[in-house]
Amino acid sequence: MTTAAYIHIPFCRRRCYYCDFAISVVGDRDLTEDSIIVKDYIDHLCQEIRATSQSNKPLQTIFFGGGTPSLLPVKQLEQVINTIEKQFGIASDAEISIEIDPNTFDQEKLQGYLDCGVNRVSLGIQTFDEKLLELCGRTHRVKDIFQAIENIKKLSIENFSLDLITGLPHQTLDHCQTSLETAIDINPAHLSCYDLVLEPVTAFGKQYQPGKTPLPDDETTAAMYRLTQQILTTNGYNHYEISNYAKPGYQCQHNRVYWENKPYYGFGMSAASYVANQRYTRPRTRREYYNWIKEGAVIDILKVDQWDLLLETLMLGLRLAEGVDLSIISQKFGKNNLSKILNCLQEYQNINWVLIEKNLKSNQKYRLRLTDPEGFLFSNQILTSLFELELD
Ligand code: SF4
Repeated sequence: MTTAAYIHIPFCRRRCYYCDFAISVVGDRDLTEDSIIVKDYIDHLCQEIRATSQSNKPLQTIFFGGGTPSLLPVKQLEQVINTIEKQFGIASDAEISIEIDPNTFDQEKLQGYLDCGVNRVSLGIQTFDEKLLELCGRTHRVKDIFQAIENIKKLSIENFSLDLITGLPHQTLDHCQTSLETAIDINPAHLSCYDLVLEPVTAFGKQYQPGKTPLPDDETTAAMYRLTQQILTTNGYNHYEISNYAKPGYQCQHNRVYWENKPYYGFGMSAASYVANQRYTRPRTRREYYNWIKEGAVIDILKVDQWDLLLETLMLGLRLAEGVDLSIISQKFGKNNLSKILNCLQEYQNINWVLIEKNLKSNQKYRLRLTDPEGFLFSNQILTSLFELELD
């Protein structure tokens, strides 16, 4: 049963130097409800939603990501939510999240989003260091972050998250510590802390080489990861996923759907969906996306086979602090595969990167998880070993 939907809103003022997402650069002008680019995109998006076959349950989570969804005028956000409501229904306790960037909304616009049903906001700040913000090509400055937070707090939005990045060029452990401490003073319900990934097509990818100055070396990025874990967990945040921390009751329900490898709809250019064991990624440019809609939004069947399903279940599930349920792995993929997986992980268990927990009553092995922070930190190495396994 599919009860989650991701909606891609592609507009950004300009492209940040580390970003390779599918976006449409709109410059400094404010988008209004009469902007042709907005009307066109939202009309196509709603057409896609209406053309999607319904499941018989209302949606539990909706996530507006981008891009910069907070460039969207309230009228168009309302149009999308109304279309979703008509097509699928929205549960009365659904989580409706939107990514917002400083300098792209005021209090009135944010209130408009809340009036449409939004109940969770995720503010992309990246760092509290003025020079680093500029170096990343971000359009906002530190004062804009504080203005955005004032707007969020004036509207008493409790369920708000801040996004931070580590591993930026010229970023030191001190920068990282200062940003984390400033974030804690703001007291968000949730924090996402991602390590920079150098994508070859980005300005950063062309300019820098991994591990070489001015990028921090591997030892420093590992120290940043451990520092983040230590500061946030001692300040009341649960490290519930490799890169995500939440106060009790504030985990992102939508993102949990991905990590638990459950189905979800995706709408808009470049959006991925996973419905009825089929994955599909939409075209990455607006023109191609519009053509795809005009041709009937046909999804090429890309069935996920059992082998991929097992690896995906492990890769995604091990991102979560609670890890994966071994009885489910055994039931779905066979006892033989389970013992191959456990044998392969023995060496990591010996160095305390992997934990295999037993059910105290039955003495059966029942959960597999990575340790925090060391197992999480070296998860790529652990997953590489799993991917090399020859499973039945
Ligand atoms: S605002 Fe976000 S989506 Fe847009 S270019 Fe910057 S990082 Fe990419």
